[in-house]
Amino acid sequence: MKIRKGDRVRVIAGKDGVAGHEGVVMFALPEQEKVIVEGAGMVKRHQRQTRQTQQAGIIDKDMPIHVSNVMLICKACGPTRVGYAIDEGGKKFRVCRKCGEELESN
Ligand SMILES: [Zn+2]
Repeated sequence: MKIRKGDRVRVIAGKDGVAGHEGVVMFALPEQEKVIVEGAGMVKRHQRQTRQTQQAGIIDKDMPIHVSNVMLICKACGPTRVGYAIDEGGKKFRVCRKCGEELESN
């Protein structure tokens, strides 16, 4: 997967106003090709007070977003597509498709 935990991303598509949201990837779910972005894709669920929870109100739950709906943010040029390059040692690393800068996780 091109997006990893710790990446700063912008959500480019999605429901409930998450499009345009920027945040850090909290969890990556490679099997589902989804990520959980801090503060994005919140589902607000009203919950009635019960003896079990002792808490009433709105519960926020982070929803996974498909990686095709987020773009990695390059420090130099903003949201960008991710490419790959290989260094002298044969190690693959991610680069910005626009400016060629290496993209590092925070
Ligand atoms: Zn760039």
